[in-house]
Amino acid sequence: MKKQLQESIELAKHLLGQGHVATYIPELSKVEPKQFSAAIICHSSLETFEFGEKDKLFSIQSVSKLFSLTLALNELDDKLWLRTNKEPSGMAFNSLVQLEYEQGIPRNPFINAGAIVTTDILCEKYGKDAFAKILSFIQTLAGNDSINFDENIYQSEKSTGHRNYALAYFMKSYNNIHCDVDLVLDTYFKMCSIMMSSTDLARAFYFLCNGGLDIKGNVVTNSRHTKRINALMMSCGTYDNVGEVAYRIGLPCKSGVGGAIVAALANNYSICVWSPALNEKGNSLFGMKVLEEFTTLTGKSSF
Ligand code: GLU
Repeated sequence: MKKQLQESIELAKHLLGQGHVATYIPELSKVEPKQFSAAIICHSSLETFEFGEKDKLFSIQSVSKLFSLTLALNELDDKLWLRTNKEPSGMAFNSLVQLEYEQGIPRNPFINAGAIVTTDILCEKYGKDAFAKILSFIQTLAGNDSINFDENIYQSEKSTGHRNYALAYFMKSYNNIHCDVDLVLDTYFKMCSIMMSSTDLARAFYFLCNGGLDIKGNVVTNSRHTKRINALMMSCGTYDNVGEVAYRIGLPCKSGVGGAIVAALANNYSICVWSPALNEKGNSLFGMKVLEEFTTLTGKSSF
């Protein structure tokens, strides 16, 4: 798979720097758009192949929603679905419109409203320690204790995250946020500001291609949840671009406005491609192309 990933990167290189870095979080607008990195971990052999700026840390943004979802599912099991739905939204990730029609229940755990709910569930359980719990969960999955959040990005999000406050207060009016909004959003903004490399993320997603066991064989979640998290990534993991992602890439993916796209294929591999310039839907332009070429060259996709 090393050769095919290398070749896919070559085929996508002309797209590097095309598209736009996210600017609505001021700190993210400072990122140099032409950078990239990629990492793949092969199932069973655990061979790891890395390309580009492999040590470069970037803001994981919405990819963090995968981790809060996993912890919340472990906590509430099927009761989670009383607090959030599991359908694609067909709307922007930070949209308020649908929430009013649907009485404060977010469409899915990967739009902002849904991730604010999964964060609230963790705040209910761990109080002020919720962020520490999420961070240590991610560190363990990636096998890297040095992973942390970026204070400047966190402050930048906090000072401009008016929509997220609006979403949280709106849901609180429907009693779908149980904790103090400031605690929930501080936890959420810190979680989005976590800095990781492509290799960290490919390692952290390994349990999704390995029946719920992490790279060291520890149980992260059960196989039923693993199947469901993968299904949610496929149907809701890449903003209002999921149809295009399923069509072109054919893998369950989770993306973030920091430019990462992370994917897993059961019993085959976990993979992350990062480059910060985004398409109009918020997914890395380069990342989409690399993954599309990779699943085509290898024939290894969900379909
Ligand atoms: N922290 C971002 C926000 O809440 C996450 C956006 C994303 O990556 O989709 O707006």
